[in-house]
Amino acid sequence: MNTLDRTTKDWQAADAAHFLHPFTDHQALSAKGSRIITRGEGVWLWDSEGQKIFDAMSGLWCVNVGYGRQELIDAATQQLQTLPFYNAFFQTATTPSIALAEKLAQLSPPQFQHVFFSGSGSEGNDTIVRLVRRYWDLQGHPGRHTIISRINAYHGSTMAGASLGGMVDMHAQGGLPIPGIVHIEQPYFAQHAQPGESHDEFGRRAASWLEYKILEVGPDKVAAFIGEPVQGAGGVIIPPDTYWPEIQRICDQYGILLVSDEVICGFGRTGHMFGCERFGVRPDLITFAKGVSSGYIPLGGVLVGDRVARVLIEQGGEFNHGYTYSGHPVACAVALANLGVIEREGLVQRVHDDTGPYLAQQFAALQGHPLVGEAETCGLMGAIRLVRRQATADAPAEPFASSLSVGMVCRGHCFNNGLIMRAVGDRMIIAPPLILTRELIDEMMARIRRCLELTWVDVQQRGWV
Ligand SMILES: *Cc1c(COP(=O)(O)O)cnc(C)c1O
Repeated sequence: MNTLDRTTKDWQAADAAHFLHPFTDHQALSAKGSRIITRGEGVWLWDSEGQKIFDAMSGLWCVNVGYGRQELIDAATQQLQTLPFYNAFFQTATTPSIALAEKLAQLSPPQFQHVFFSGSGSEGNDTIVRLVRRYWDLQGHPGRHTIISRINAYHGSTMAGASLGGMVDMHAQGGLPIPGIVHIEQPYFAQHAQPGESHDEFGRRAASWLEYKILEVGPDKVAAFIGEPVQGAGGVIIPPDTYWPEIQRICDQYGILLVSDEVICGFGRTGHMFGCERFGVRPDLITFAKGVSSGYIPLGGVLVGDRVARVLIEQGGEFNHGYTYSGHPVACAVALANLGVIEREGLVQRVHDDTGPYLAQQFAALQGHPLVGEAETCGLMGAIRLVRRQATADAPAEPFASSLSVGMVCRGHCFNNGLIMRAVGDRMIIAPPLILTRELIDEMMARIRRCLELTWVDVQQRGWV
């Protein structure tokens, strides 16, 4: 069948018949039919029915320079014409991969002078596991293999990525986590703070869970700690400012490697080039992906700090690890063009000075809404926690029963009203493209307020409040 003649129903039928989607209940989706996205421009998407949608999630946290950027398209086209592929395995390299490695060394904190490329964030985190264990082997400490991560972290979906991650539902399938990966609780104030505890006190206490875990495992067995500066897929969990410096202090004290998974936070999302800079930490390794190429083409990797790079290069001999697409020339060319746009348009500075603070103000103004427990932002990421009753002077906010899936109710209203906002439990989250202007933030906020209103009416009618 000519694809141009297909109706939405035809596409949905073919989709249900053949395409197993990631993180999807196939049977439930087949009954309902996928929404087919056909076009994008700036912050806007269109579906196969011609509906125009504000994409407040940048695709999947990645289309940071917006859809339809000619510079990225030209870079891909040119590289495809010149050299669509060559590998970097057998003492060869391509010019875009060298140039991108050089560029990343320039943009990242000074301890990072080396890059290992992968095809995705998950693969980047697989590389992290190999790298940190290799590092300790070379240092003469083969017993130091345990990596500490956090419950409700997201580090990808490969065996190592999902094991590093702390998603209970993911661990329940496929025999995860793999050995040598343990988890501590997340620094989520609404879940774990004690009555009367300040954010700063809570941040320090949440960091101390790392020290307890190190002592439990044995300091001579711990290789590394890994965390997202702000947890993304876990629901935009923004730690108190006291958290990361205390994590840094503990890692330093026990000599363990600190890994910052910047797959979401990297390249301007927090108003800094990297999230670790926002929180004042000096990681030894950084995972990146998503925003490095604005999702136009898959690319990921690991920034390897001097501490690890020196040992690996000077003592390591051959590192028996790599991917066919490590340093893919087309992906690297697109990433270079993408970083060029971010620099030329001053997007990181704009988020830091203008759009980030403006979004924070707009979110603060949601606070009075009866459904809103907290509305928080960090740079251009934000979360609204939906609650059944607001906090009072002597009682914390009352959450909805999780069985009600109130987030999915709200998400339904967004979906039907031209707004993509994601639901993670009772948290409605956004991570809009970094090209947002104040005018576009106003447009987005008008949609968010309308969807909150519709949700409020809906939960009243359902008798949930
Ligand atoms: C998305 C994500 C990953 C996984 O990246 P993929 O490209 O999907 O493999 C890893 N870490 C974080 C923090 C992410 O958000």
